[in-house]
Parts: sequence; structure tokens; C-alpha cells
Amino acid sequence: MQQDRDVLIVGAGPTGLALAIALADAGFTATVLDAQPREALAAPAEDGRDIALTHASVATLRALGLWQRLLPEEIGRIREARVMDGDRQHSALSFNAHGHGADALGWIVPNHALRRVSFAAAAQRPGLRLMDSAQALRIGTLSTHAELEFGTSPGAPHHLRGRLLVAADSRCSWSRRQLGIAADMHDFGRTMIVCRMQHDLPHDDVAYECFGYERTLAVLPAAGHVSSVVVTTDAAAAAQLLALPERAFATLVERQFRGRLGRMQLLGQRFAYPLVAAYASRFAALRSALVGDAAVGMHPVTAHGYNLGLQSITSLTHALCAARAANQDIGAATVLAGYERRHRRDSALIYHGTNAVAKLYASTGAPQRFARQLILRAAQHLPPLKAAITARLTGQGGLQLPGAAP
Ligand SMILES: Cc1cc2nc3c(=O)[nH]c(=O)nc-3n(C[C@H](O)[C@H](O)[C@H](O)COP(=O)(O)OP(=O)(O)OC[C@H]3O[C@@H](n4cnc5c(N)ncnc54)[C@H](O)[C@@H]3O)c2cc1C
Repeated sequence: MQQDRDVLIVGAGPTGLALAIALADAGFTATVLDAQPREALAAPAEDGRDIALTHASVATLRALGLWQRLLPEEIGRIREARVMDGDRQHSALSFNAHGHGADALGWIVPNHALRRVSFAAAAQRPGLRLMDSAQALRIGTLSTHAELEFGTSPGAPHHLRGRLLVAADSRCSWSRRQLGIAADMHDFGRTMIVCRMQHDLPHDDVAYECFGYERTLAVLPAAGHVSSVVVTTDAAAAAQLLALPERAFATLVERQFRGRLGRMQLLGQRFAYPLVAAYASRFAALRSALVGDAAVGMHPVTAHGYNLGLQSITSLTHALCAARAANQDIGAATVLAGYERRHRRDSALIYHGTNAVAKLYASTGAPQRFARQLILRAAQHLPPLKAAITARLTGQGGLQLPGAAP
């Protein structure tokens, strides 16, 4: 065996890196391994995703020293969110943070920026080892420890040993499969096109979700006169939208958005994501745990995937710190069962609720349209429901490491 660590993490995406940093800051040793080369991890290419972050997530990013590394022009603010239904001019449902002790519902940050700052911070943490260009080959979990075999070509495979192995390798997780953990996968048969657009009029920090009958359009406020635009439609229509010349695409978005932002212009590329959600049947097994999309891969319509990922690493880190304080083995089944319970409680309702919303809005039939109108009207006129949704976005919380000021 080459090396003994407390925790081995497969996947240096934003969740795996955040976990590695949290564990290093809590005094654990960790190795995080990723198949991508170092350059791609250190300076990730734009991928079109803009991530809406809740207050609790920003608190976690601050606690890990990641938020402070973002550039001011990378951070957009969401003051208000409006949901539009069909061709109606006025919003069917709206949210703001008034009365919740906050001046914003949340923030918007490009995914590649989150990845960049996570890698830079992780690379500077003593106690944390990053293995890039490393292809995981085999996982073994025993009652005493976990083993990981990986290859970096050329040469013989390497071996690592840890008290716990964590899968953070995305929704089609190779590690999850190796651990024998099943997942419910749901293919929505829809594709999401994401891009950034510049516009003449200010967005006033308002986010829009426009549920059209053929396609859904979300427009999220980035910094300046720039918005993150998300179009969801079926695969054939998505292919046509991607093939449209830039000006024709911009005109189509302007029209569906009823010119609210004036003339719009595409900035950079359009990216397509087929929509497949995943929910693992277990979040823990013998000396192993799942975090991030490997545990719960969300449909992006409610913008909760990475927020849940940060919640998973917070719950796992708290569980491991509590185990150490009680002189318990961090890979013990009882410790991991605590993490599993907590993350299931945090994720089950939002996951199934999001899937229900996504399915309702993917249907164009008259009964579904009627159901949508009823639900939106009920939500708009039901203050406790609106308050609960807003509280989820603005609620405090996030990672607290032992010894850190509350
Ligand atoms: C269009 C879109 C919009 C979104 N918007 C939001 C939003 O507004 N708010 C929000 O909270 N979330 C949002 N999300 C979700 C968010 O992007 C994900 O939840 C988040 O990126 C998941 O991070 P992760 O680290 O778990 O996985 P990933 O980012 O997928 O990273 C996984 C890593 O594992 C590595 N890997 C994979 N397999 C292996 C292997 N076998 N060996 C070694 N390494 C491996 C990969 O190279 C990668 O680096 C959105 C997603 C999409 C697609």
C-alpha cells in the first residue's frame, strides 16, 4: 500500500473539492483524485452553467475561504424571483426576501468560477493531496479500511488506503456502481440549453422562470447587463435551437421574454445538457459514502443541485468531526448511518418535488396547464408556502468547523 489517509475522495468537482477542503480544515488527511488533467481542473473551461446559491451555501463557501476568491464581476445577486405561466403578461408567483432579514434571495456564480476557486484553495491546503489525470480502476471496502486502485498512464497502477472512501464523481457515478449502490435514474426526455446574454435594459436583479407551452425559459441575473439564459425543450427542438445563427437565437429569446431586457446578444457559446435526474438508494455503505450529484443529481429547474451538494458535505463533515470527538472510527457504520439519515431528510422532498414540477411543465396538455395555473395561484395566495420556500433560500446555516466562530 502506498499511502494511508483518513478519507479518499473520487472526483475533484466542486463538491469533492469542497469536501476535501472542509476535511483538511477540520484536521483530517484526505486525497482527492480526478480523471481530468491538472490544467483542466485549475483553469476549467466555461460550461455555460450559472449556479444559483442559497444563503446557507454562501455561508459554507465563506467558511471554506472560496467565496472570498471569486471576482466581484463573477457574482450576480437575485433580489426577486418571478414565475410566469404561459402567455400571461404578469407573474403568476413571485418571491422576495422582505421580512426574512435579508436583502437578496440568493446569488448567481458561473460553475467554472466555483471550480477554479475550489481547486486553487484545495491546492494550498496542507494535509490535502490532489491527484489529477488519475483514472480510478478498482474500489475495495473492508471492515478495517477502504482501498482504491488507480492508474496514471504510463506505468503500473497505484494504490491508496483510507478509513473512508467518498464518491463525488457525478450523477452517473462510477464509484457508486463499484460500491454496489443502486440509483433511481429519471430521464426527462428534455434538453437544457444554457448560455450568457448581454442586454440593453437592466435586469434589476430579478430572476424569471417563464413556463411556456413548448419550451421553458429561465433568465437569471448575472453581474452587470448580463443574464444567464436557460431554455428547456425536447431534444429535436434543442438541436434546432443550437443550429440557429446567433442573431436568430437571440431574437427568439427576446420574443419569448417579451422584450423585458430590450435587445439581447449572445455572449460566447450555447451548451446543451440532457436532463437526467438520479437519486441513490443509499448514501452510505461499508466504509463509504456518496456526496454531491453522486448521491442526488437534481433536475436544475429549482437550482438546487450544488446547494444540496454543499449540504451533503456539511452533514458528512459534521458527522466525521462528531465521531472523532467521541473517539469513534470515522468509517463506522453508525457514523455513516447518521450522515445518511440527515442527507435523506434534507434531499428527499426537494428532489421529488422538483421532479413533479419538471414533469408538470414538460406537458403541454390542457389538464396539465390547468393544474399549473391552480398550483401557482394557490402558492401565490398561500403566504405560509411562499414563506417556507423563501426561508429555504435565505435560511442561515452552512458549515461550522470545530473551533470556528459561529
Ligand atoms: C444546466 C445546469 C444548471 C445548473 N444550475 C444549478 C443552480 O442554479 N444551482 C445549483 O445548486 N445547482 C445547479 N446545477 C447543478 C450543479 O451543476 C451540480 O450539482 C454540481 O456541478 C455537481 O458537482 P459534483 O462535484 O457533485 O459533480 P461534477 O461537477 O459532475 O464533478 C464530478 C467530477 O468527478 C470526476 N470524475 C467522474 N468520474 C470519475 C472517475 N471515474 N474517476 C475520477 N474522477 C471522475 C469528473 O472529472 C468531475 O471533475 C446545474 C446543473 C446544470 C446541468
